[in-house]
Amino acid sequence: MAKAPSDKLTPATRLVTGGRRKEWTGAVVNPPVWRASTILYENTAALAEGPKTNADGKFFYGRRGAPTQWALAEALTELEPGAAGTMLYPSGVAAIAGALLAVLRPGEVLLMTDNAYDPSRGLAKGLLREFGIETRFFDPLDVAAFEAAICPRSRAVLLEAPGSLTMEVCDVPALAAIARKHDLTSIIDNTWASPLGFPALARGCDISVMSLTKHVGGHSDLMMGSAAAGPEYYAQLRRTAQMLGQVVSPDDAALALRGLRTLGLRLERGASSALAIAKWLQGRSEVASVLCPLLSGAPGHDLWARDFTGGCGLFSFIFKGGDANTRNRFIDALCLFGIGYSWGGYESLVVPVDPAPYRSATPWPPATMDPADRYGVRLSVGLEDPADLIADLAQAFAAMAAA
Ligand SMILES: *Cc1c(COP(=O)(O)O)cnc(C)c1O
Repeated sequence: MAKAPSDKLTPATRLVTGGRRKEWTGAVVNPPVWRASTILYENTAALAEGPKTNADGKFFYGRRGAPTQWALAEALTELEPGAAGTMLYPSGVAAIAGALLAVLRPGEVLLMTDNAYDPSRGLAKGLLREFGIETRFFDPLDVAAFEAAICPRSRAVLLEAPGSLTMEVCDVPALAAIARKHDLTSIIDNTWASPLGFPALARGCDISVMSLTKHVGGHSDLMMGSAAAGPEYYAQLRRTAQMLGQVVSPDDAALALRGLRTLGLRLERGASSALAIAKWLQGRSEVASVLCPLLSGAPGHDLWARDFTGGCGLFSFIFKGGDANTRNRFIDALCLFGIGYSWGGYESLVVPVDPAPYRSATPWPPATMDPADRYGVRLSVGLEDPADLIADLAQAFAAMAAA
């Protein structure tokens, strides 16, 4: 079987072919699990050569990986148009930290979208602040305010679209263009869409981060993160990750590779089921707003339709009135939605959503919403039949009302 040039292939095909180099797979389909700390050298001369070539895909010592990790990194690079390479990290949070530490230095300012994943905020307010890096949060929907917030010490911006919990879609191409104009590195947490739904580097971002724990793993059994970038930033990410000693296990890399092969199908199925459920929720009297960018008329839908090529099964909705107890009765009555963190697995999940404590630049609920409507849930819609999921949600609404 000859190898097709990957730049001629569509993403669906690259999911299948990515990273499967003959020298890594041998005669089998998948790269085997190369468990390695020690790499053996032929002689002392070869050992002395080892450290001199710090290149991708070269054996040195286990911390620089072996073919299983290289195959996963290469497959991810092939999926991200404009990427020269992808670094792997032991979690999504480690990938965000790895990207921020690669570009920020003491005395500099990070701009962070106000709807960022809470641990990203925690890193900014904790370790980064202790290292003399200041973070300013901005309204993800106010492009002019973002530009106005840039000062001479600003060095990088962290975007997320849609944002965690509240799902606003920011104008990424506009924000990334402004960042570039002012010499800021733009980093995007692209976990929701993945490069299949949002080719972040092609849309103007410098570094595209994903929690592979979510969709790429896809089966709720591994933790991993990635950061992909063009040549210059990739070199910086790699240097920082090597100094921090970041490495992922080959067993987890093999699981992530297995998940990757079906990523496209799972994302499509999650998105189509989520859209069906979102439409159904929109017609329920208990629901004040459905925060699902896939849904026509929902907040963020227009930018999603303009900039994205896909989505996934993750969205939130807000109850009409009520309190936390009412909302929790609804969650506790669900049978097919597990209660737990994370998302992007094959099984459906639910968590309560009360974003107010995680905002500082913008109020929640926003002015466009009734202040009485503040309690919500986030659903991660899995691969179950959407009709069963809708029936489950319906009986949970009934249980909520009956109490
Ligand atoms: C879960 C998540 C992360 C962190 O990923 P982990 O692998 O759990 O560390 C980062 N960003 C977003 C948007 C997430 O939902």
